[in-house]
Amino acid sequence: MPTLKSLSEDVKDRLTQAGIEEAEFDTRLLITETLDISDIDYALEKDRVISDEQVGILLPLVERRASREPISQIFGEKEFWSLPFKVTKDTLTPRPDSETLIETALKFYGDKDEALSILDLGTGTGCLLLALLHEYPNAKGVGIDISEATLNVAIENAESLSLSKRANFQLGKWSSGLSQNISFDIIVSNPPYIGSYEKSSLPPEVKDHEPEIALFSGEDGLDDYRTIAAEVGNHLKDSGCVILEIGHTQAKAVKKIFTSAGFNKSTVFQDLGARDRCLVIEKV
Ligand code: GLN
Repeated sequence: MPTLKSLSEDVKDRLTQAGIEEAEFDTRLLITETLDISDIDYALEKDRVISDEQVGILLPLVERRASREPISQIFGEKEFWSLPFKVTKDTLTPRPDSETLIETALKFYGDKDEALSILDLGTGTGCLLLALLHEYPNAKGVGIDISEATLNVAIENAESLSLSKRANFQLGKWSSGLSQNISFDIIVSNPPYIGSYEKSSLPPEVKDHEPEIALFSGEDGLDDYRTIAAEVGNHLKDSGCVILEIGHTQAKAVKKIFTSAGFNKSTVFQDLGARDRCLVIEKV
C-alpha cells in the first residue's frame, strides 16, 4: 500500500504528464477531498499509509482530471461569494471574476434591507441571483435560463441555500418569456461573450467540458449583448440598473451597443486582476 508521499508524487506525475500546469495544487485537492484529510495532515503526515480501497476511489478521479475535466465538475461543486454551488456539465462553473458583479451591486445599493427585485438573465448555477438574494434578505428575484438541465441545477442550489422562497426560475431565451409589465430594480447577467474565433485558444477544461451555449456568442462574442440591449429597457425600472459581466477587452464595444439602444449612461468596473469585468447601465 502506498504512503501519502508516494501516492501524491504519482498523482502529480500523472497530472503533469497530462499537461496540467497546477498539478501540485490539483493533486492536493484531489487527495485531501477524496481521503477527507486536512491540508495540514496532507503536508505533515507523508508516511501515512493509504489503503487500497482509498486508492481505488482516488484513481478514477485522477484519470478524470488527467482528461482535463475541471475540478469543479469532478467534485460537483464550486464556491462563489463564499457559498457552495452545485455544478454539472450543463452549467458554467462560477468564476471568481464574476464576484465583481456582486461587489458592484453592493456599491449601487448600499441599503441591504431594501426590498429589491432582481432579474438574472442566463442564470446558470444561479450563482449571481442567489449571492444577491443572500446579501439582500428582503429581495426577490427571477432567474431565466434556456436550458432545462441548467435550470434544475439552479433550483437545487436555491433549495440548498434556503433561498427558494425568494427565487423563481423560468425557462426561456433571455427575457422573452417575461410578461410585458414586469420590471426590476436590478438586471444582472453573465452572458456568453467569447467569439467563436477564440475557441482554439481556450484551455481544454473550458473548451471540452463546459457548455458551449454559456461560452460563445457569435463571431465577435457580442451577439448576446445586442439581444440583451434590445430587450432590457422593457423590464428595467426607471431608477434601476443593468449589471453585466463583460470580457476584459469588450467595455468600449458593449458600451456602444447600449448607447445605440438608447442607454447613455454606463460605467465600467474592474475585477481583482484590474481588468475591465463589469458594466453598469442606467436608464437616465
Ligand atoms: N469568463 C469566462 C471565461 O473566460 C467566460 C464566461 C462567459 O462567456 N460568460 O472562460
